[in-house]
Amino acid sequence: MIRQTDRKGKTPRRPPPKKPSNTQKDPVGVYCRVRPLGAEDEECCIEVISNTTIQLHAPDGLKANRNGEFKETQYSFKKVFGIKTTQRALFEDVAKPLVEDLIHCKNGLLFTYGVTGSGKTHTMTGSPGQGGLLPRSLDMIFNSICPYQAKRFVFKPDDKNGMEVQNQVDALLDRQKRDSQTTIPKTPTTRRIIDPEFADMISPEEACRADGVDEDGSYSVFVSYIEIYNNYIYDLLEETPFDPIKPKWNGAGTPLRNNTEFVPPQSKILREDQNHNMYVAGCTEVEVKSTEEAFEVFWRGQKKRRIANTQLNRESSRSHSVFIIKLVQAPLDADGDNVLQDKNQVNVSQLCLVDLAGSERTSRTRAEGSRLREAGNINQSLMTLRTCIEVLRENQMCGMNKMVPYRDSKVTHLFKNYFDGEGKVRMVVCVNPKADDYEETLLVMRFAEMTQEVEVARPVDRPICGFAAGRRQRNQAFKEELTRRLEERGGPVDGETPTVLSQLLQSFPPMPPCEISGPNDDVTLPRLIEALEKRHKIRQMMIGEYNKTANMLKSILQEQDSNILSKENFIQEQRGKLCEKDKMIQNHKNEIDRLEKKSKMLEYKIDILQKTTNIFEEDKRSLQQELESREQRLQREMSEKRRMEARMQGVVTDAKLKWEKECERRVNAKQLEMQNKLWVKDEKLKQLKAIVTEGKTENRQPQRPSREKDKVPPKRSVSPSPVPTPYNGSQSSLSSLEPMYNFPQTVRPDPPFPRPGGVCVASCISEWEQGVPQSRRQGSHSPPDSRKKAQGLPSSLERRRGRCWVKDCEVPVPPADVDLEATGHRTGLPVRPLHRRSHSAGGERWVDHTPATNVDLDTVMQPNIPNAIKVTAPSEKALSKCDKYVLTHQEVASDGEIQTKLIKGEVFKTRGGGQAVQFTDIETLKQEAPVPTSRKRRSAETGQAPEGDPMEVGWTDCETRCSVAVEMRTGSNLGPGYQHHGYPKRKKP
Ligand code: ADP
Ligand code: MG
Repeated sequence: MIRQTDRKGKTPRRPPPKKPSNTQKDPVGVYCRVRPLGAEDEECCIEVISNTTIQLHAPDGLKANRNGEFKETQYSFKKVFGIKTTQRALFEDVAKPLVEDLIHCKNGLLFTYGVTGSGKTHTMTGSPGQGGLLPRSLDMIFNSICPYQAKRFVFKPDDKNGMEVQNQVDALLDRQKRDSQTTIPKTPTTRRIIDPEFADMISPEEACRADGVDEDGSYSVFVSYIEIYNNYIYDLLEETPFDPIKPKWNGAGTPLRNNTEFVPPQSKILREDQNHNMYVAGCTEVEVKSTEEAFEVFWRGQKKRRIANTQLNRESSRSHSVFIIKLVQAPLDADGDNVLQDKNQVNVSQLCLVDLAGSERTSRTRAEGSRLREAGNINQSLMTLRTCIEVLRENQMCGMNKMVPYRDSKVTHLFKNYFDGEGKVRMVVCVNPKADDYEETLLVMRFAEMTQEVEVARPVDRPICGFAAGRRQRNQAFKEELTRRLEERGGPVDGETPTVLSQLLQSFPPMPPCEISGPNDDVTLPRLIEALEKRHKIRQMMIGEYNKTANMLKSILQEQDSNILSKENFIQEQRGKLCEKDKMIQNHKNEIDRLEKKSKMLEYKIDILQKTTNIFEEDKRSLQQELESREQRLQREMSEKRRMEARMQGVVTDAKLKWEKECERRVNAKQLEMQNKLWVKDEKLKQLKAIVTEGKTENRQPQRPSREKDKVPPKRSVSPSPVPTPYNGSQSSLSSLEPMYNFPQTVRPDPPFPRPGGVCVASCISEWEQGVPQSRRQGSHSPPDSRKKAQGLPSSLERRRGRCWVKDCEVPVPPADVDLEATGHRTGLPVRPLHRRSHSAGGERWVDHTPATNVDLDTVMQPNIPNAIKVTAPSEKALSKCDKYVLTHQEVASDGEIQTKLIKGEVFKTRGGGQAVQFTDIETLKQEAPVPTSRKRRSAETGQAPEGDPMEVGWTDCETRCSVAVEMRTGSNLGPGYQHHGYPKRKKP
């Protein structure tokens, strides 16, 4: 409702008006109407697939051109009307609710949109027999309000888009004035219409009316008709002012004198009223009292438009036509007789019916020159409409506050209030399914879909006026009752009831002839007097009757008054109850609001709890998974542990067994040694005895006490210096460190006790390894020759003892005798009295010493020496035949694995005729569990050895090299597990 609601205006001069109090919004209702295909059109590009959806198919030609880029597209609307839709059905759905709103003081805007020829005018106006939305709307309005219309000119438009209420007298005067001036025929009282052009737009049986029309209101309908062309507004109902030169236009749109000259219409401007509604200033508003009259006015404007278009060479499809129906209503006064004389109680609602210009692009109509400019403008106004809709949509969807460019075109500016303020907006999108229109139709569809997303504030209900309802009816009833009673009594009533009056007049006695024949005529006068007296009596009677009736009327009125009073009291009571109910409703609403909020809150909480539960469940799942994986790992580790334990047990039992054997053997060796010592002492004692007994004079050389001799440390006689020596070649360095052992010759024919093995290599190694520190060894390894000579022990004795170290039994030999030493550069090194076995005897022969205690490891890398003499214990016999010796020795490495060492040596003949083995090399065979360990060359620590192949690293490990000279002798108890101290081959000073 325009006048009751303040709206937001753009004019800065005015204080900002209040926003509409209601916040409810409805989307713009967009309907789609598909017209039937023309006779000449063949291809159809639109299919109605449901009553809300249509589908567009690209025409065949277009598909080929665009590589099939266009496919079927679907568009949905509030409702789709197919080709068979009747005008009435369309009206029922689209316009009827707007008319109902209009009658209930709410504004509406209905426009048709589409390309030229799509059926916009057909939809809006229609044709005889097929009336469109406009005539149907008018018909419905008048069908609804006809009995309650105010007399013409009771409502009078002011110049500022408002309405005034005139009193009865002024209205009557205006009516008389109009009747005398205008040539327009008075409102036809029947449905008979003269102009066949718009006859039979609506058949009487199709007539419909609105429900809930306020009978206590008085109504008037005003129509205006404007055209917007090239962004100018023209009033199509304007009476062209009389111009003595130019011909005058009559109301029907035909020139009065001659039609040679045409008066171009003056454009109008838009103004904003005090309620910030836009209106066309100075636009003609014609008050109409019936559908026919209204439609006649419309048709007048239509004709004028047609003539202007022809005269000015314009295309009607390029203009927008706007038909505005204003419904003015005001309450009847308390009597229910007249319109309440209060301007503030006047309500004006309006329904705009807009037939927009064709939405096609300029190129389509091949406009040229000035026509092109017009077309451009028309398109511009539609473009503005489009932009406004877009901005509105954006503002509403994204909560923005962008300026909507309503002012950019007259069309949008005029309807600004509908989008800014409140009202119901509906659009009928007309489409022609022919293939030629496909591309244009596509654009129309997009615009229409977008428009659906715009929302418009819902109009609020009009407040109820303070008077009691049913005034009109009561007034009517009273009038009827009065007439009836008067008729019953036959009494005269003032002019209002002419039939009763004439009856009364007829009941008077007729007047006798009053012509007096002469001065003595005494017949006429008395007759006249008699008649007049009779009449006087009747008059007196009538006065009495009148008074009686007046009294009766008074009593009726009083009755009515008391009736009204009681009804008013009742109403008052009801109002009070209503107020209470309202309060209750309000309370309930508040309660509902509160509960809704609470339920929302709870829903929110539930949501959160649900989420939390989900998170926890997720956690639980992941923890369970982790637990499972850990358990599996534990299981694996346990089984691994068990496996390892079993393996270790095996290793431990093996080692234990070996050690037990070894200990046994060592005990045996020790026993042997001790027995040996005992035997030597016995021998010495025997010799001493012989010397004492055989002759005290001969051979008196001082002897070292045997005890002292025994004290000679059983250590190696030749020992390499651990102190780095400046040697050049690795060969010489190696040889300088090579150990030497003498195997004493078993010359003694009758050993006092049997020896388990001819030579005990192990014990020799043991002695060396157990040995004293290097310095001590150095200090002790070479007792001075003089001392040894002083000892003067016969070599035979030494041999017999079977434990003579190389040093002990050595005699000075030329350096050439010792091969290994021949290349040495060092001086002061002990000369080894060894004879290298000649290799010429027929290649190398090996003694392969594998102790019986060795475990078969089932390794791939097994020593395989061809032509070797395999022994389980080194025997003199075997050694004498060979020049190379190898001991396969097993021990437990630090990682618990058994490692096999191949201790290699060369066999020398000692001067005494025994065999000596000089160890030259140790090869280590080691088994490892397949755990990747970072193997590092230990020799690399010295910074000497070059980095090489990792496989090589294992084999070139310094431990695998014999870089230490060790000596061993018979009975040495070197056993498995003995540590061999490796020394670097070379050391930098
Ligand atoms: P527009 O106003 O969009 O340019 P019109 O309303 O003038 O188009 O329609 C062009 C022609 O198509 C008219 O002759 C009209 O009678 C016809 N037409 C349009 N819509 C329909 C329809 N739904 N049913 C039958 N004929 C139609
Ligand atoms: Mg048209």
